[in-house]
Amino acid sequence: MPRAPRTSHQVIVIGAGVAGMAAAAEAARCGLQTALFDDGLLGGLITNLGAVHGHPGLVATTGADLVNTMLGEALAAAVDYQPGAVTELVSMGGHWSLPDNGASASRVILATGAALRTLGVPGEAQLTGRGVSQCAFCDGGLYRDRDVAVVGGGDGAFQEALHLAELCANVTMILRGRKPRARPTFVRQAADLGNMHFRWQTEVREIVGDGGVDSLRLYDQDSGGEEELSVAAVFPFIGLVPRTALAPAAAKRDDDGGLMVDAHMQTDQPGLYAIGAARAGHGGQLAHALADAKTAAQGAWRSI
Ligand SMILES: Cc1cc2nc3c(=O)[nH]c(=O)nc-3n(C[C@H](O)[C@H](O)[C@H](O)COP(=O)(O)OP(=O)(O)OC[C@H]3O[C@@H](n4cnc5c(N)ncnc54)[C@H](O)[C@@H]3O)c2cc1C
Repeated sequence: MPRAPRTSHQVIVIGAGVAGMAAAAEAARCGLQTALFDDGLLGGLITNLGAVHGHPGLVATTGADLVNTMLGEALAAAVDYQPGAVTELVSMGGHWSLPDNGASASRVILATGAALRTLGVPGEAQLTGRGVSQCAFCDGGLYRDRDVAVVGGGDGAFQEALHLAELCANVTMILRGRKPRARPTFVRQAADLGNMHFRWQTEVREIVGDGGVDSLRLYDQDSGGEEELSVAAVFPFIGLVPRTALAPAAAKRDDDGGLMVDAHMQTDQPGLYAIGAARAGHGGQLAHALADAKTAAQGAWRSI
């Protein structure tokens, strides 16, 4: 049964991805009464990953296991975890309140993360959930022994493509540049597989299908020509859009909407911190989000 919200806390953390869970646990360990709200996607971007890479001390952990461990740590530190979306954040004379549930605090840590960017091409919206997916670990099994495509060239795109290569007949990676941004180990692993193919300098112009994905209309940036690639599914991983709508419109943001912060992770709105994928200049990895979390929680503690 959900716990009744306490009306006043010292710190409220919004978003229980890795950044939010770590910040809430750290604030509580600093002795601050801390509430943590999440809109239901507990764990955020990391949750569905079959294997989390690049975090010291973690050898072969799934995203779900890591999320369970981190939530357990937060609860053990006496964080008041309350499932439920926060739709409004109001500043009143140095105090922040959440009209949704009557909670308030002098310090708020915004850890609302980011949404995966979409391609914005014809066919994408209509075929989402019917061949267009942004979770290979959830949906890859539906396309076993079929041909699929992954769009993007970063770590996330390669991680998801490598998983699909274990299930699907062929995986074509579509990249706009001549060089992937992903770490070299992922790129080498992918290049060594016989069923991975690469289309450099290529853009997806349309996702074609009626009831399911049949093909992609591709544009070759070098030749200026177009061609059709037959696939049963396409997985776009072309970056992130920070989710910062809760912050006051006046708060300084970068061009992508990420909140600008100082060295303590505080925004230009007194008492409002932003960490992880919600802030401008997020390093992109779990370890960066965790470092932000510690900095913000300790900054909040020292300033109260
Ligand atoms: C495909 C992919 C693979 C990756 N693989 C790795 C990897 O192997 N290793 C690594 O180090 N990093 C990896 N990363 C990067 C890593 O996932 C991110 O750096 C990290 O998850 C960011 O965490 P976050 O807590 O800032 O944001 P998020 O994970 O986005 O979490 C934000 C949370 O806030 C919640 N929320 C949002 N708005 C509200 C609201 N209004 N009210 C309540 N709750 C709200 C969301 O539901 C979510 O739970 C990967 C990223 C992607 C996309």
